[in-house]
Amino acid sequence: MKCEYNVDDRIEGRRITVNCLECDESFDLKECFFHVIKIMGDEYNIDNMVFSDDVETQLTGNVVDILGRLGDLCKDIDRVSSKVPKGKECKNCDVSPKKIFGDIYGSFADEPDKVFEAYYTSYRSLNQGEGCEECKRQSEEDMCRFGEELVSLSDAVLRDAYGIIG
Ligand SMILES: [Zn+2]
Ligand SMILES: [Zn+2]
Repeated sequence: MKCEYNVDDRIEGRRITVNCLECDESFDLKECFFHVIKIMGDEYNIDNMVFSDDVETQLTGNVVDILGRLGDLCKDIDRVSSKVPKGKECKNCDVSPKKIFGDIYGSFADEPDKVFEAYYTSYRSLNQGEGCEECKRQSEEDMCRFGEELVSLSDAVLRDAYGIIG
Protein backbone atom coordinates (compact mmCIF):
# COMPACT_ATOMS: atom_id res chain seq x y z
CA MET A 1 0.00 0.00 0.00
CA LYS A 2 1.10 3.53 -0.71
CA CYS A 3 1.90 6.06 1.96
CA GLU A 4 1.11 3.65 4.76
CA TYR A 5 1.02 5.48 8.06
CA ASN A 6 0.49 5.21 11.74
CA VAL A 7 -0.42 7.66 14.45
CA ASP A 8 0.97 7.69 17.96
CA ASP A 9 0.43 9.91 20.96
CA ARG A 10 3.62 11.11 22.54
CA ILE A 11 4.50 13.57 25.25
CA GLU A 12 5.36 16.23 22.67
CA GLY A 13 2.08 15.68 20.81
CA ARG A 14 0.24 13.53 18.35
CA ARG A 15 2.56 12.27 15.68
CA ILE A 16 1.88 10.74 12.31
CA THR A 17 4.51 8.70 10.53
CA VAL A 18 4.13 8.17 6.82
CA ASN A 19 6.14 5.43 5.24
CA CYS A 20 6.93 6.34 1.64
CA LEU A 21 9.68 3.81 1.11
CA GLU A 22 7.24 1.52 -0.67
CA CYS A 23 5.93 4.28 -2.91
CA ASP A 24 6.89 4.01 -6.57
CA GLU A 25 9.62 6.59 -6.71
CA SER A 26 9.87 7.09 -2.98
CA PHE A 27 8.29 10.38 -1.92
CA ASP A 28 6.50 11.76 -4.93
CA LEU A 29 4.87 15.16 -4.79
CA LYS A 30 1.97 14.20 -7.02
CA GLU A 31 1.05 10.83 -5.56
CA CYS A 32 2.15 11.13 -1.98
CA PHE A 33 0.99 14.69 -1.53
CA PHE A 34 -2.58 13.74 -2.36
CA HIS A 35 -2.42 10.75 -0.01
CA VAL A 36 -0.99 12.90 2.75
CA ILE A 37 -3.75 15.45 2.28
CA LYS A 38 -6.34 12.70 2.49
CA ILE A 39 -4.72 11.24 5.60
CA MET A 40 -4.75 14.68 7.21
CA GLY A 41 -8.45 14.99 6.39
CA ASP A 42 -9.14 11.74 8.21
CA GLU A 43 -6.94 12.32 11.24
CA TYR A 44 -7.20 15.09 13.82
CA ASN A 45 -4.99 17.17 16.11
CA ILE A 46 -1.76 16.11 14.50
CA ASP A 47 1.21 18.03 15.94
CA ASN A 48 4.00 16.60 13.91
CA MET A 49 4.63 14.45 10.89
CA VAL A 50 7.50 12.24 9.93
CA PHE A 51 8.08 11.11 6.37
CA SER A 52 10.03 7.97 6.38
CA ASP A 53 11.78 7.64 3.05
CA ASP A 54 15.45 7.18 2.25
CA VAL A 55 15.85 9.94 4.78
CA GLU A 56 13.47 10.96 7.54
CA THR A 57 11.88 14.36 7.24
CA GLN A 58 10.10 15.81 10.21
CA LEU A 59 7.51 18.55 10.00
CA THR A 60 6.06 20.54 12.86
CA GLY A 61 4.22 23.77 13.54
CA ASN A 62 2.78 25.89 10.77
CA VAL A 63 3.31 23.47 7.93
CA VAL A 64 1.48 20.70 9.76
CA ASP A 65 -1.39 23.10 10.48
CA ILE A 66 -1.56 24.06 6.82
CA LEU A 67 -1.55 20.42 5.71
CA GLY A 68 -4.32 19.71 8.22
CA ARG A 69 -6.40 22.58 6.89
CA LEU A 70 -5.80 21.47 3.32
CA GLY A 71 -6.89 17.98 4.32
CA ASP A 72 -10.11 19.28 5.84
CA LEU A 73 -10.76 21.48 2.82
CA CYS A 74 -10.14 18.64 0.38
CA LYS A 75 -12.48 16.37 2.31
CA ASP A 76 -15.17 19.05 2.42
CA ILE A 77 -14.88 19.65 -1.34
CA ASP A 78 -15.17 15.91 -1.98
CA ARG A 79 -18.28 15.73 0.20
CA VAL A 80 -19.92 18.70 -1.50
CA SER A 81 -19.15 17.38 -4.99
CA SER A 82 -21.41 14.42 -4.37
CA LYS A 83 -24.42 16.56 -3.40
CA VAL A 84 -27.38 16.07 -5.68
CA PRO A 85 -29.45 19.17 -6.37
CA LYS A 86 -32.87 18.80 -4.82
CA GLY A 87 -35.96 18.27 -6.87
CA LYS A 88 -34.28 18.20 -10.25
CA GLU A 89 -32.85 15.65 -12.59
CA CYS A 90 -29.61 17.32 -13.42
CA LYS A 91 -27.35 15.27 -15.61
CA ASN A 92 -25.30 17.42 -17.92
CA CYS A 93 -25.42 20.77 -16.31
CA ASP A 94 -22.08 22.66 -16.38
CA VAL A 95 -22.60 24.00 -12.91
CA SER A 96 -23.68 20.87 -11.09
CA PRO A 97 -21.82 20.27 -7.79
CA LYS A 98 -20.33 17.11 -9.28
CA LYS A 99 -18.81 19.06 -12.16
CA ILE A 100 -17.57 22.24 -10.51
CA PHE A 101 -16.45 20.82 -7.18
CA GLY A 102 -15.33 17.53 -8.71
CA ASP A 103 -12.88 19.51 -10.85
CA ILE A 104 -11.39 21.24 -7.82
CA TYR A 105 -11.12 17.94 -5.97
CA GLY A 106 -9.45 16.39 -9.02
CA SER A 107 -6.81 19.11 -8.99
CA PHE A 108 -5.76 18.05 -5.48
CA ALA A 109 -5.07 14.63 -6.95
CA ASP A 110 -3.60 15.57 -10.31
CA GLU A 111 -2.03 19.00 -9.98
CA PRO A 112 -1.76 19.99 -6.35
CA ASP A 113 0.09 23.17 -7.26
CA LYS A 114 -2.87 24.28 -9.38
CA VAL A 115 -5.65 24.08 -6.80
CA PHE A 116 -6.05 27.87 -6.88
CA GLU A 117 -6.39 27.89 -10.65
CA ALA A 118 -8.92 25.07 -10.52
CA TYR A 119 -10.87 27.02 -7.95
CA TYR A 120 -11.02 30.16 -10.09
CA THR A 121 -11.98 28.18 -13.19
CA SER A 122 -14.86 26.61 -11.30
CA TYR A 123 -15.75 29.95 -9.77
CA ARG A 124 -16.05 31.45 -13.25
CA SER A 125 -18.08 28.49 -14.52
CA LEU A 126 -20.47 28.88 -11.66
CA ASN A 127 -20.99 32.54 -12.44
CA GLN A 128 -20.95 32.43 -16.22
CA GLY A 129 -21.56 28.83 -17.20
CA GLU A 130 -24.69 27.42 -18.72
CA GLY A 131 -26.67 25.54 -16.18
CA CYS A 132 -29.74 25.32 -14.09
CA GLU A 133 -30.58 27.85 -11.41
CA GLU A 134 -31.01 25.14 -8.81
CA CYS A 135 -27.38 24.05 -9.12
CA LYS A 136 -26.12 27.63 -9.07
CA ARG A 137 -28.14 28.53 -6.05
CA GLN A 138 -27.09 25.45 -4.16
CA SER A 139 -23.38 25.75 -4.94
CA GLU A 140 -22.84 29.44 -4.29
CA GLU A 141 -22.53 29.15 -0.54
CA ASP A 142 -20.07 26.24 -0.71
CA MET A 143 -18.05 28.08 -3.34
CA CYS A 144 -17.74 31.13 -1.09
CA ARG A 145 -16.70 29.06 1.89
CA PHE A 146 -13.97 27.28 -0.08
CA GLY A 147 -12.78 30.58 -1.54
CA GLU A 148 -12.45 32.14 1.88
CA GLU A 149 -10.48 29.18 3.19
CA LEU A 150 -8.19 29.15 0.16
CA VAL A 151 -7.52 32.87 0.40
CA SER A 152 -6.78 32.48 4.08
CA LEU A 153 -4.36 29.68 3.38
CA SER A 154 -2.88 32.03 0.77
CA ASP A 155 -0.76 31.39 -2.22
CA ALA A 156 2.52 32.15 -0.54
CA VAL A 157 1.85 29.92 2.45
CA LEU A 158 0.85 27.06 0.19
CA ARG A 159 4.02 27.39 -1.82
CA ASP A 160 5.90 27.30 1.43
CA ALA A 161 4.32 24.02 2.42
CA TYR A 162 4.80 22.43 -0.99
CA GLY A 163 8.40 23.58 -1.03
CA ILE A 164 9.20 21.95 2.27
CA ILE A 165 7.62 18.58 1.66
CA GLY A 166 8.29 18.48 -2.10
ZN1 LIG B 1 4.11 8.04 -0.34
ZN1 LIG C 1 -27.91 21.71 -12.82
